[in-house]
Amino acid sequence: MTNTLSRLIERLGRIVQNDAHSFGLKPTQWEALRFLNSANRFSRTPSGLTIYLGMTKGTVSQTLSALERKGLISKTKAAGDKRGVMLDMTPLGKQALKADPLKTIEEDLDRLTQRERDELFALLSKFLKAMLARRDSAQFGQCRDCMHFVSSQKGALPHFCALLAEPLSGADSELMCVEYSASERQAPRS
Ligand code: SF4
Repeated sequence: MTNTLSRLIERLGRIVQNDAHSFGLKPTQWEALRFLNSANRFSRTPSGLTIYLGMTKGTVSQTLSALERKGLISKTKAAGDKRGVMLDMTPLGKQALKADPLKTIEEDLDRLTQRERDELFALLSKFLKAMLARRDSAQFGQCRDCMHFVSSQKGALPHFCALLAEPLSGADSELMCVEYSASERQAPRS
């Protein structure tokens, strides 16, 4: 049974990869764009992306150079900032994401019932969490579900990150973070 499941996952992964050759971009370039669109300011760095993708620095560097040449991302050197280079999507990059090939898979998922989608989400989240834990990989969960997230009192912003001692806006709380640690009350969402 586990053999059948692993082959099922392999086939699903191959379909996702095959679909992801569009708009002149490669699958890894799409993944990098999605990451930069949903990661917070502490994570939008070459090292954050390297951890997220689980690839070598060289591959990630080539990916970023290609995206920069196409005008889809920008690199900013923050003087005196130990994080070094900050990565951001350009307006053209945001435009490109509107043609994200994952939308085809979203259309397939729309054919399931809400209950089936909820069950699939719960199972895949649990499975991904276990896989990442076994490989000692960062989970990259949503900030508001992190054990270090301190919610502002009575809706008065900002929120606060107890780990990095930084204020967090409402928009920040929706983004994912390389420093994320699951709180006991919440499972990761990605
Ligand atoms: S609260 Fe957690 S997820 Fe949010 S910025 Fe801090 S470490 Fe990252």
